[in-house]
Amino acid sequence: MIHLLDQTPDQLQAWLAGHGVPGYRARQVWQWVYARGADDFDQMTDLPGVVRQRLAADFQIWSTRVAAHRKADDGAEKLLLELADGQRIECVLLRDDRGHCTICVSTQVGCAMGCAFCASGLDGLIRNLSTGEILEQMLRLRQCLADGERISHVVVMGMGEPLANLDALLPALAMASRPDGLGIGARRITISTVGLPAGIRRLAGLNLQYHLAVSLHAADDPLRDRLVPANRKTGIAAVLAAADEYFEQTGRRVTFEYVLLKDVNDGPAHARALAALLRGRPALVNLIPFNPVAELPFRSPLSPDVMRFAETLREAGIAVKLRYRKGDEIDAACGQLRLQEETAAG
Ligand code: SAH
Repeated sequence: MIHLLDQTPDQLQAWLAGHGVPGYRARQVWQWVYARGADDFDQMTDLPGVVRQRLAADFQIWSTRVAAHRKADDGAEKLLLELADGQRIECVLLRDDRGHCTICVSTQVGCAMGCAFCASGLDGLIRNLSTGEILEQMLRLRQCLADGERISHVVVMGMGEPLANLDALLPALAMASRPDGLGIGARRITISTVGLPAGIRRLAGLNLQYHLAVSLHAADDPLRDRLVPANRKTGIAAVLAAADEYFEQTGRRVTFEYVLLKDVNDGPAHARALAALLRGRPALVNLIPFNPVAELPFRSPLSPDVMRFAETLREAGIAVKLRYRKGDEIDAACGQLRLQEETAAG
């Protein structure tokens, strides 16, 4: 069976033409899937029965099974999806009080980056997700919405390193942003990367309007080498140079994410070093208090330290956003639910 969501519109059209079906039928199929949320060819009632049967014989709309669905009191929902080969991934829906519905999707099973505080990379990289598997997370999360709600933002901040799987991610995001796809404008889509300079440059060269977030977590190389092993090959200077290029090419201000780890990178000197590093850049710093992972030795920062860190950056003229914690009770941070289920399963 072919996963329908892995097909580009042109590929589906070619398949239909090969079966003597006019091209405009492809548009109808996409409309059913993307605009109307159909999950069975039988629902596509304006297609001739024989076309529906042919499609159903070769294609499947869903390739995953919902293995767990958790809901938190703050409106966050998390899906654990089992892929066709039995691997599991996570994706999350977050609601805020401004009526935004943000979905967070994964791009890989596991992760090769090995960041010291992250649950996703504990077992290394298992495989890349396909375009269809990335899109399916978005469609499955959309099914969680109530009447009148719509997806307002997409963040590619789930499991995996998005820039290590750009070939599958780019077509998925193109479909997400098309008006006849999910209709989520590129400016409301954020790609979060550990900071792979070559990948950032490739993305910059495409001159798309996606928002880029770079996971910095430290302002000097010795500390960043420890927290983000991928830094050992690149160094902070090359990451920042690529981020600058992204801004120059696209005009979009880059966000720098900084996970605050108690007594590791949350002190006043760390804040001053970060301010010095980013001074003069049109940057936004997103401070993320560490979300505890049972298997890992790090601790969450104390709130006064978080406030002081933010204040030091603001005093230096740097824009700061404190990530509002959501979904803690359902282990919404990347990799945590999958990890827990695997541990429970032995
Ligand atoms: N690989 C990408 C995207 C996935 S993680 C990246 O590195 O950006 C999305 C963000 O969550 C990253 O900034 C990551 O460092 C952060 N993160 C990972 N584990 C975390 C944890 N336990 N608590 C808080 N933030 C975490």
